[in-house]
Amino acid sequence: MSGASEAARRLSGRVVIATHNPGKLAEMRELLAPFGVEAVSAGELGLAEPDETGTTFAENAAIKARAAARASGLPALADDSGICVEALDGAPGIFSARWGGPDKNFVAAMSRINDELVMRGHGPESRRRAHFVSALAVAWPDGHEALFEGRVFGDLVWPPRGDRGFGYDPVFRPDGHARTFGEMSSQEKHGVDWEDARSGGPGGLSHRARAFVLLARALLQQGEA
Ligand code: IMP
Repeated sequence: MSGASEAARRLSGRVVIATHNPGKLAEMRELLAPFGVEAVSAGELGLAEPDETGTTFAENAAIKARAAARASGLPALADDSGICVEALDGAPGIFSARWGGPDKNFVAAMSRINDELVMRGHGPESRRRAHFVSALAVAWPDGHEALFEGRVFGDLVWPPRGDRGFGYDPVFRPDGHARTFGEMSSQEKHGVDWEDARSGGPGGLSHRARAFVLLARALLQQGEA
């Protein structure tokens, strides 16, 4: 990931987005387009989805990117994300999607977080710290890899607030904000603020926006966005 010869590595041309999730593909396509990078999905190329056997977000993102780069012969970008609750020792963490169950029931998953916190003596009246993590991994067919991680810290609220967003958004209130992610517009939550990024700021609020800004700084042609 570092070293003089590695520093010049850039993403350009066609890139595989190692996801079968149309929402993630659309978001990545939009983010990459201003940099002249064309995103094709693993789903469109008919690539198999590898088992996510890693123990960290970064490992799981790398497993997906590596498999897609190997199978397609193109550079591949994969993400893995979730929410970590400090008083639950980081759970649900890499199992965030799984806590939603086969029906993707995140109302139940948010209740489970609240119930487990209450059982451990952390009721809704106490300060309950949590953070979202987004790991973005890029793998090239020659075996080179790069990894970027964005985080956003905040407090959990109960009951959930707001019907925007997805997953655990309604229980997460990011630091410095009065509203939860579930009460924010997608632009406010996920939008990338290139001016802030250029002046050394995180370049956005969400974990995903922050990880993407780190990736853009390292791997995309500057001055395009
Ligand atoms: P994966 O990255 O597709 O494995 O799934 C991540 C899971 O974490 C999602 O199913 C969501 O439940 C949760 N998650 C990740 N990012 C967010 C977010 O920005 N808001 C709410 N939930 C999220």
